[in-house]
Amino acid sequence: MYTLLKKDKNTEARLGKIITSHGEVDTPNFMPVGTSASVKTLTPQDLKSVGTQIILSNAYHLLLRPGAQIIENAGGLHKFMNWDGPILTDSGGFQVFSLAQLRKIKDDGVEFQSHIDGSKYFITPESIIDFQKVLGSDIMMVLDECIPYPCEHDYVNIALKRTIDWARRSKKAFILGKKSTTRYASRDTRYELFGIVQGGAYPDLRKQAVKQLIDIGFDGYAIGGLSVGEPTELMYETLDATINLLPDDKTRYLMGVGTPQDIVEAVSRGIDIFDCVVPTRNGRNGTAFTAEGLVKIRNAKYKNDYSALDKNCDCECCKNYTRSYLNHLFNVNEILGLRLLSLHNVSFYATLMKNIQRSIEDGSFIDFKKSILDIYEKQPLKRDLSSI
Ligand SMILES: [Zn+2]
Repeated sequence: MYTLLKKDKNTEARLGKIITSHGEVDTPNFMPVGTSASVKTLTPQDLKSVGTQIILSNAYHLLLRPGAQIIENAGGLHKFMNWDGPILTDSGGFQVFSLAQLRKIKDDGVEFQSHIDGSKYFITPESIIDFQKVLGSDIMMVLDECIPYPCEHDYVNIALKRTIDWARRSKKAFILGKKSTTRYASRDTRYELFGIVQGGAYPDLRKQAVKQLIDIGFDGYAIGGLSVGEPTELMYETLDATINLLPDDKTRYLMGVGTPQDIVEAVSRGIDIFDCVVPTRNGRNGTAFTAEGLVKIRNAKYKNDYSALDKNCDCECCKNYTRSYLNHLFNVNEILGLRLLSLHNVSFYATLMKNIQRSIEDGSFIDFKKSILDIYEKQPLKRDLSSI
């Protein structure tokens, strides 16, 4: 359940709150990606220590391994992975279209082969909702057809019709379908279902998608199919064409985004939640986000640098270790290095979101946005596909 608390005077930025059965999420907020029921190298306690309020997990990966039965026997995904905060799961659509092999798209669902062992699966909008009920996700996503960029208008139109039909069927399955198979869910457990706006880079199709999804009615609306290789300006143009058509009283989620500069740009257009592998993947690759910009810790200039990775950060990494030691850990391939940089980056993102919330609250968001752009636009980081 989303509550809009305040709108920024100078931009479209929104301060709000999502209330779930597993706790509240202050928005704007960022979800670290826990692909296979784990935010790589980090424990749930680590995530809490840096202020993470909600995580994302991927239905596609969990469906393949360990499968529904094992998670159901564990009592759901929260218990299985020992994270008691809110969880949003994607529908698997993005991975089916980007990772799986020998895909056959049919009107009733998608047939594909696992990218791990080639075994065959057939998923439908209904089966994916049932699976997310087994997981016990606080926020579930509808199955959608993800198209590549660039893509012809005619094909995007056909794919969009299917996506809208699937959204309608997902909603029906969410409400009327097989009762939750989660034996542990109490009657009061509240779940939410989000629709996904597709339509490629075509504003007419995006607008049509928003209108049809609002007619079906969802608890929140995600904007999908962006950050898939299109130029940055096109991503913002597409966002601009659709975002103001979304209802004020529902959560707005920009899927698979992004870098600090993408986040402040999207917040200023009215986005509430984000997910991306950028902080964790870059952490494992030795790139840290700091108040002064990117730090590539493998660089020889850090060999004799005995300062903290980010002097403004009070995470376990920055409080206890030096850049010199982190540089050493990466040079000798010690796993602790991957873990400490992942932890710091997730901490940086959690703090970034808190500072965004605070600046909307006190009316200084436009200045805060500029300060982030001043630092990070000088150091462009390749945008990355989410959730793989
Ligand atoms: Zn830190």
